Amino acid sequence: MLKRGVALEWDVVIVGAGPSGCFTAQQIASSGFKVLIIEEHEQIGEPVQCAGLISPRTVKLAEISQDLIINNLTSLRVFSPLGTKCLLNSSNVLAQAIDRGAFDRELAERAIKSGAELLLGTKAKEVERIAGGYRLTATDKSKREFKITTKLLIGADGANSMVARWLNLTHDNPKAVMFAADVELQPFNTGCIDIFLGQDLAPGWFGWIIPLSPHICRVGSGYAFINSDRSPRHFFQMLVDKYPHYFKGLKIIRQTGGVVPIGFMPKIYAPHAMLVGDAACQVKPISGGGIYLGLRGALICSQVAIKALQEGNLTEKGLATYQENWEKEMGEEIAWGVAHRKCYLEWLYRNLQRGTK
Ligand SMILES: Cc1cc2nc3c(=O)[nH]c(=O)nc-3n(C[C@H](O)[C@H](O)[C@H](O)COP(=O)(O)OP(=O)(O)OC[C@H]3O[C@@H](n4cnc5c(N)ncnc54)[C@H](O)[C@@H]3O)c2cc1C
Repeated sequence: MLKRGVALEWDVVIVGAGPSGCFTAQQIASSGFKVLIIEEHEQIGEPVQCAGLISPRTVKLAEISQDLIINNLTSLRVFSPLGTKCLLNSSNVLAQAIDRGAFDRELAERAIKSGAELLLGTKAKEVERIAGGYRLTATDKSKREFKITTKLLIGADGANSMVARWLNLTHDNPKAVMFAADVELQPFNTGCIDIFLGQDLAPGWFGWIIPLSPHICRVGSGYAFINSDRSPRHFFQMLVDKYPHYFKGLKIIRQTGGVVPIGFMPKIYAPHAMLVGDAACQVKPISGGGIYLGLRGALICSQVAIKALQEGNLTEKGLATYQENWEKEMGEEIAWGVAHRKCYLEWLYRNLQRGTK
């Protein structure tokens, strides 16, 4: 762990030690640059604000240990707002439920092994543009203030990114607002994910049951694309009430929630600065899954950052290839997701006008 005051001149300072921040740090530190990650929480991966469902391509990309995988899911059942069910069975693993806290810690450990330093319990409070980079004001848990200077500032600080606001890289994209919980519940099939659609139980979004074991599931619901004066917890209760048969014996062990941004961000870089992960809207528009796209974003961000650091060109022009490469690699997938979500919402509203849920 870093001793304060030892070195304040960094090549790169990354705000946020989530998966996107740590994966970015690992790549850049491996190239020999001095990287500091600052994280406001005392422990990496806590509190968990995620259902921890990832695709096999994420496991491959992150090269995570197999023991982080809690359950392999091979089928998906979708409950439509009209009361019909659709079942998709596969002989392959469609998705994997992971220990999300341990996943974040594994990525953080790898970043440290690659040479990055990590300051826990440290919150970025303010940023000031200085010649050749930024001066960041941070506070530790005793509210002691200190300054850090860096050539390149990377905001990996999640959906409510302060770094994005400081850099004027804001957006008014819709957000999905969710309630989620680990619960005691007996799933009907431990290999099957259940998805519930309907404006009454998840307006513009979906409810879910993800089994972890014969007795434990992850469940949740929420809303998106609307301003709701109801909490996402309310919609979860609506889901439970609508499908009592599936939620029989429900007992909440741990609850959480949070938001994810949906869509493209017009700009994810600035002079001497970049955004990555949820802070850069690198999230799947259909599912709200941000782990895979955040890791892909981290790879592209770090490749551009390494080149710019090597060439000593951290100007806006020098970093513009980040946006270009991001859109080239992932633009089609995100645009496809946005178009399908729009299509679903239009279908829903048409049915609502006809009086169907
Ligand atoms: C309820 C819910 C369920 C989800 N389920 C899934 C799922 O099943 N699969 C999936 O792929 N995705 C899921 N997501 C989305 C996923 O959790 C995010 O996309 C992912 O965590 C993004 O990673 P990140 O590193 O960009 O940001 P985060 O994981 O949010 O990390 C940001 C970090 O920055 C730190 N930070 C913030 N501000 C500061 C500051 N000022 N100073 C210092 N540190 C700061 C935070 O403490 C945090 O550790 C879910 C999200 C929610 C809310």
